[in-house]
Amino acid sequence: MNTTQTSIAQWVRANIRRLVPYSSARSEFKGKAEVFLDANENPFETGLNRYPDPLQWRLKEKISALKGVPASQIFLGNGSDEAIDLVLRIFCEPRQDNIVILPPTYGMYQVSADIADVGLKKVSLTPDFQTNVQEILSAADEHSKILFICSPNNPTGNDIKLSDIEVLCAQFPGMVVVDEAYIDFSEQASCISLLPKYPNLIVMQTFSKAWGMAGLRLGMAFASEEVIHYFNKVKAPYNLNQLTQTTALEALESKVEDRNQMVKTLLEERVKLEKVCRDLPYVQTVYPSHANFILVKMSDPNAVYNYLVEQGIIVRNRNSVHLCEGSLRITVGRPDENVTLIEALKNWKHL
Ligand SMILES: *Cc1c(COP(=O)(O)O)cnc(C)c1O
Repeated sequence: MNTTQTSIAQWVRANIRRLVPYSSARSEFKGKAEVFLDANENPFETGLNRYPDPLQWRLKEKISALKGVPASQIFLGNGSDEAIDLVLRIFCEPRQDNIVILPPTYGMYQVSADIADVGLKKVSLTPDFQTNVQEILSAADEHSKILFICSPNNPTGNDIKLSDIEVLCAQFPGMVVVDEAYIDFSEQASCISLLPKYPNLIVMQTFSKAWGMAGLRLGMAFASEEVIHYFNKVKAPYNLNQLTQTTALEALESKVEDRNQMVKTLLEERVKLEKVCRDLPYVQTVYPSHANFILVKMSDPNAVYNYLVEQGIIVRNRNSVHLCEGSLRITVGRPDENVTLIEALKNWKHL
């Protein structure tokens, strides 16, 4: 018997359990009608004069078919960043609860916790950027409500071992969020298939990376129906605008091939970039990547960073980040952009 089965509601903040959510005009009426005079909209057609579907059912049905997850187990948000913020507001009592993060990792978990006035426990990844399962479990206390795991991890690029994620789902005494923003670039299976087994698991994905739609602001969270119910209670009523919903539907209907082609090209380009970087005399390590970027350790990262800026090429300086000392994080660009980058890197004269 899985003890987490009955714990989900207990981990939810009492005020959220009690919350009576805002009821929009569009969610109160269900059925067929011709004349809508219930929402104080402007009746003249502008293309956007009506409020959008608050629960985005058409889009969820499409995503459901693609991911093999029932629509009732999907939350859609204004980027994954909205889902990260909501999960904190659902489960963490300000000034009382805490979350566990595994640095070096994505910065938004800490920022969202700081904004929510929620405590932070940091358990470092190992030097090869894997999870320290026993340390994570001993760091957790009765106020640790969420563990954030990023796989493939940003900024290191590697997959986190699925077997470790499973142990953490089974034994962490709270919710486990697996942020899979880069999963489409990885050969490792998504944690979505673990959802039926672990009611405390939330898997997040996004349209911002592989789909090439960072400007759309569309993030997804997959979880048990019970957890999604809390997301829906707490979210803003119309959190996804009509343009986002329509554009994403079109992409799912006609741009899957384009997406696959972009991912294929980016992976080939990453391999090329890794090879070139490994041969540069001032590079010490090109860390293994399962994402659309590489982390490269070198002898003089600040000087290389400034030199690249002078060449009009902007990468991410991670030199001051725990376990990433000496490293730059480089996103894989278009083939022509990568040629420019490689040319510049080869021309860097280190002392
Ligand atoms: C880029 C990224 C996201 C995406 O966030 P959006 O709000 O969906 O754009 C989420 N998590 C990680 C780790 C990322 O690197």
